[in-house]
Amino acid sequence: MDKATMYKLTYGLFVLTSGSEGKDSGCIINTAGQVTSDPNRISIAVNKANFTHDLVRESGRFNISVLSQEADFSLFKHFGFQSGRDVDKFAGFPDCARSANGLYYVTRGTNGFISARTEQTIDLDTHTLFIASVKDMKVLSDVPSATYAYYQSSIKPRPEKPKASGKTVWRCSVCGYIYEGEELPADFICPLCKHPASDFEKVTT
Ligand code: FE
Repeated sequence: MDKATMYKLTYGLFVLTSGSEGKDSGCIINTAGQVTSDPNRISIAVNKANFTHDLVRESGRFNISVLSQEADFSLFKHFGFQSGRDVDKFAGFPDCARSANGLYYVTRGTNGFISARTEQTIDLDTHTLFIASVKDMKVLSDVPSATYAYYQSSIKPRPEKPKASGKTVWRCSVCGYIYEGEELPADFICPLCKHPASDFEKVTT
C-alpha cells in the first residue's frame, strides 16, 4: 500500500469560525465539502484539540470562509498557529464581519462564506465530523480558491536553507519550522503550527 496516494487527494482551505456565550474564535481546516445538494448540506471534520471545535459543538452553528489565492501567510499564522484558548483571534482583527447568524466570517484573503447549522455529529476519535445544513452563503471575490497544494507551493514561505554543516535537522512540512537534532521525538508537536512529528521531514545539510 502506497501511503503517498493520500497526497493525490485535493483539499481546499477554510477559516472555520464559531461562537458561543459571547466567545468567538476561528481555526484553519482543510476538510469542508458539500455532501448533498438538495437539501444543501456540507460536512466538516474538526480536531477536538481546537477551541473552535468546542464552540461549534456548543452552539451548533458555524461559518466557513473559503480561503483564496490572495490569502497571505500571516492569515494562516493568525488562525492556524495559535489557539483560541490563549488569545482572542478577533480582538483588533479588522478583516471580518458578522453574518446573519451573528458569527464572524473573514473578509480578506477569502472568496466566499457559508453559514451552516449542525444536523448530525459523528465521533471520529481525534476529530468530530459535523454534518450541517447550509443557511446562508455569499460570494466575496472571483479570486480562485487556495488549495492545500497551492498553500504548499505559493503561500508558505520558502524554507531557509540550514547552514551546511553535515548535521541532520527536521523541517515541518506545514510551516517550515526547523527542529535541530538527529532524532525527532515521536511525540514532538510543532511549536508554530501544532502539527505532529509525522509532518516533519528529515533534512541533512
Ligand atoms: Fe509547523
